Amino acid sequence: MAVQFPRPVLADEYERCIALEEVFVTKVEDKACISSILKALKSSLPLPGLEHLKRVKSLDDGVSIVLCRSSDVTDINSFFREICEMWNIRVDGLGQPLVAMVPRHQCLTRQQFEDASKHWPVNYHENKHVARAISGELFDDVELKEMKQYMELAIAAANHCMTMKKDPVGAVVVDAHTHSVLAISCDHTCNHPLQTAVMVCVDLIAQSQGGGVYQLGVPFANAHLCSQLKDCISNQFSSTDQLAGCLLDRLLVTGENREPTTHKTAENQMPYCSNRKRKLHMQHDEKSSQPYLCTGYDLYITREPSIMCAMALVHSRIRRVFYRVVDPNRGALGSTCKLHVQHGLNHHFEVYVGGLCEADYIS
Ligand SMILES: [Zn+2]
Repeated sequence: MAVQFPRPVLADEYERCIALEEVFVTKVEDKACISSILKALKSSLPLPGLEHLKRVKSLDDGVSIVLCRSSDVTDINSFFREICEMWNIRVDGLGQPLVAMVPRHQCLTRQQFEDASKHWPVNYHENKHVARAISGELFDDVELKEMKQYMELAIAAANHCMTMKKDPVGAVVVDAHTHSVLAISCDHTCNHPLQTAVMVCVDLIAQSQGGGVYQLGVPFANAHLCSQLKDCISNQFSSTDQLAGCLLDRLLVTGENREPTTHKTAENQMPYCSNRKRKLHMQHDEKSSQPYLCTGYDLYITREPSIMCAMALVHSRIRRVFYRVVDPNRGALGSTCKLHVQHGLNHHFEVYVGGLCEADYIS
């Protein structure tokens, strides 16, 4: 059976329905004067915030041209006369101004583009990465199988939690570039309210870099178990369940054998940031030889992280988060909010929900 693809959790702008805004348009029948009118419009009547609109809509007997937002003028008729004088055209060369409804927002998905185009022609530049994530073409079968293994490892960690009467949440941190699992953990909030699966995972990664504060026994897994797990992942064996128990709260790499994160990763990680901000971030990366916490890494977790955990993921610079089930009451990556796409935060990451496995798992 094919592995289901995980669905991206996108900012609300990607999911909104088409909202319409009232504008004044005028009909032009004489096609010879369209280009001069458009030229005049561009300089004298820009439409800030409506740049996504095409100014002209073709009609059977001419074109319709957007003049201005209806909220921008109090008396459209005198305004219209002024425009005609300014453009040096006869009033009767243009049709009387009429109200039209046009899409208010820029289109971010093909669906929005198709819906918006029913109302008025719009510009649309497809974000190929987002489009492929929505259509399920972002990950190929090999990647999906590997990702499924990582999620099953997190599920296995959660199942071990349950046997220890803990909140059944399991998580793994993965370096997708080297195909390695870096840390495995589960919920420990019965020991300490801050020791959630995410917080322990981030702490384990910090320990591999000489930091970390939690005392959870011996954090480093032995080399034999690590290579067994690597075999499991690469050959897609089904014995990850047993291994997860042995590897719980373990780091699977030490600071010495970690591969340095490439700067390309830092660049890929900031798709919504300005070039200046991205450059500063990369310069910062270059200064330290070691990657900062989870830079370039992915988290697989059985349950949607809370606000505290999601914020820890922002601070630790995670690259992507895959979670299995939603937490409608406390989840911060799609349910109660979408922390990973908040404009005010200095790091954003991709989030995916569901898919990946058919294994029985009760949240
Ligand atoms: Zn949490």
